[in-house]
Amino acid sequence: MAVARRSFLTATVGTTAVAPSLMSASQAAPTRKMIGIQVGAVSFLDEGVDKVLDVFQEKARINTLFVATFTYGRGIAGRQVPGQPLPDHGKQEYDTGFRGGCFTRLHPEFYKDTLLKEVRSRDHGDYDVLDAVLPAARKRGMRTICWYEDVWRTDVPNFEKVTEVDFNGRRTNRTCMNNPDHRAFIAGIAEDWTRSYEVDGIMWGSERHGALGTALGSSHGGRGSDPSRAGCFCPHCEQKARQRGISVDRAKQGFKVLEQYVRASRGGKRPVDGHFVEFFRTLMRYPEILAWEQLWHDSLRECYDLIYKRVKSAKATVQVGWHIWHTNSFSPFYRAQQDLQELSKYSDFLKMVMYHNCGGERMRTYIDSVQQHVYGDMNKEEALAFNYRVLNMAERGYEQIPFTGLSADYVYREAKRCMEGSAGTKTQIWPGIDIDIPTELAHSRSTPPGTKSAVLAALKAGVHGVLLSRKYSEMKLANLAAAGDAVREFGAA
Ligand SMILES: [Zn+2]
Repeated sequence: MAVARRSFLTATVGTTAVAPSLMSASQAAPTRKMIGIQVGAVSFLDEGVDKVLDVFQEKARINTLFVATFTYGRGIAGRQVPGQPLPDHGKQEYDTGFRGGCFTRLHPEFYKDTLLKEVRSRDHGDYDVLDAVLPAARKRGMRTICWYEDVWRTDVPNFEKVTEVDFNGRRTNRTCMNNPDHRAFIAGIAEDWTRSYEVDGIMWGSERHGALGTALGSSHGGRGSDPSRAGCFCPHCEQKARQRGISVDRAKQGFKVLEQYVRASRGGKRPVDGHFVEFFRTLMRYPEILAWEQLWHDSLRECYDLIYKRVKSAKATVQVGWHIWHTNSFSPFYRAQQDLQELSKYSDFLKMVMYHNCGGERMRTYIDSVQQHVYGDMNKEEALAFNYRVLNMAERGYEQIPFTGLSADYVYREAKRCMEGSAGTKTQIWPGIDIDIPTELAHSRSTPPGTKSAVLAALKAGVHGVLLSRKYSEMKLANLAAAGDAVREFGAA
């Protein structure tokens, strides 16, 4: 079936689609899919640009580089996370002094309208990763996409002026999607890369949700979230809410009530009418809570649209898309905001995170968080079963998943759902595939058979490409090669 399905897909990268009626499946020209990998500057410095690109092409048939060009996080830049075993390539020591920032030169004309100017990474001196990589990539016919994310350090000059404010009036360490200086920065840096370098695409991602998600901690690892920190209630956001006819005071009252509910439930107190009814009662009494969550996601989508238009007006052929957070696989609340038809209006592609191996451990921590309150009428096994059912997953039980991870079937179902969800749009679906994403050392780890079956599952679902994640500097070569085996077996390269 896979072969027949493949011949109906349009080409994604630089080749011409052939009408399926003109040739049999066996004669069909191989459809070249986007085979991408995320990689940070340190790998090119440690191992050499040509050596790294040789490995990518030979082991995994990579045709697209997603170079981490701006982040203050270790998830996509820097070497292996300390405490995790170093992979079988690269410098065999941890970069404990990692700081992050922008790994390319900054051209000041693109930062005139923002207070965020001092973001140049000092990790590698004057090293400009795009200058170093682009010529070699172009010579090989490989495409380069700038990959940046909403991960900051609080000591970046002026950062405190672009942050969200919680409903108690305190600054947080999260950027505000309505703050003009933040917006000018994320659009300006994308324009800088588009105009200053011969890049093929831009991808940005924000792994966050709005005030409701923050109050509930409804994400993997959300158990420790502080419900008193929900926001944003900065002047820009409050003004936008008033324009929508939302009462700011009522919203603040609602989040106060929600905080009390979360704290009491976490403390083991069952509301008289149960956890779910009490939650729903709070939402009905304070619909401003939902309105505030909607406002946050609408504002994020406005940021997508802003970056999209800025890049396209600079160079129309540069592809623009977004990294969609793994919480999409755990939280129905978050998934409700990821309407692919809506996102497609300003998305040439979507990297939909489908990290199968670490997904088991992460799903369990999601259940640990929400079973304290909204799902509190169920035990953890029941809560997980409910969650699987509403998200159309069929995976193992609560005790097992940290040690088994999620299966290739999860990747297949998610990839298929995303293809159906975006049907009829221009948007390409590129599942993010887990290769050696850190888990607790006793939990499941990536293996070559598991990696190969995850990549094959995505390809069989008919996606336009796959993106090996999170960063080359944490991947073992055998697992990378297993992804390549799947690409070759499927005939996608
Ligand atoms: Zn705000």
